[in-house]
Amino acid sequence: KPICLIVLGMAGSGKTSLVTRLSTTEPKPYIINLDPACINLPYFANIDVRDTVNYKEVMKQYKLGPNGAIVTSLNLFSTKFPEVIDFIEKATNKYCVLDTPGQIEVFTWSVSGSIITETLASSFPTVILYVIDCVRSTSPVTFMSNMLYACSILYKTRLPFVVVMNKTDIVDYSYAKDWMTDFEAFQEALEADESYISSLTRSMALALDEFYRNLKVCGVSAATGQGLEELHKLIDEAAIEYDRDYRAEWENIR
Ligand code: GDP
Ligand code: MG
Repeated sequence: KPICLIVLGMAGSGKTSLVTRLSTTEPKPYIINLDPACINLPYFANIDVRDTVNYKEVMKQYKLGPNGAIVTSLNLFSTKFPEVIDFIEKATNKYCVLDTPGQIEVFTWSVSGSIITETLASSFPTVILYVIDCVRSTSPVTFMSNMLYACSILYKTRLPFVVVMNKTDIVDYSYAKDWMTDFEAFQEALEADESYISSLTRSMALALDEFYRNLKVCGVSAATGQGLEELHKLIDEAAIEYDRDYRAEWENIR
């Protein structure tokens, strides 16, 4: 059975670029596009939500704006998800990668997103790849809020988790590694950012320190392919974690 990888992250973090990179990296994955609104897919998708629902038509027919139409398209698609599961069951690939809509909340906070996640997780070892734009996270406060979001997704999905710091071809992600392993270093960065230092930020950072302790993090560049080996290694560890710590719970749900 393939290991399912749900690719999540803020708009522009590089989800589609990462899926494109994975699509040409061995072992080649089975690929599913869940973004109904994308215009050109830069990779070949084995299953494409756009073959089932026409996002533009959904906008017209239901008189919806862009986000409403994406959610409705996903709702329509999620009714077909049992068929998708059958296709994944038959795939011989080691991994199955799922690209998600640009805006993260469309997937993480919608009923169809939950249905798709839960259906996958109760059928296959499933891992979340949480993509972060490491160019846009160099401010300690932005970094912290992105990590809090990561934390909320961990609670929301109850699945093993790999944080993928993307775009290392532009910015070295070692600053993030320092902040996650050395609490003092992060405190110093926060203090340098005077406008934000408050007791709440401090306590939040302390709570995150606990979150970082067992977190799997790696730096990659979807553009150049650097870091992909490390990412594969962490994914395999996360899949073992799924079997050990998560599977039983998901089998109860099924
Ligand atoms: P998505 O909204 O999360 O799917 O993000 P996209 O994959 O569409 O990428 C958003 C933008 O970031 C695009 O302009 C990409 O070319 C750029 N991008 C993505 N990954 C990388 C990377 O590793 N390095 C660089 N330099 N740019 C990247
Ligand atoms: Mg995308």
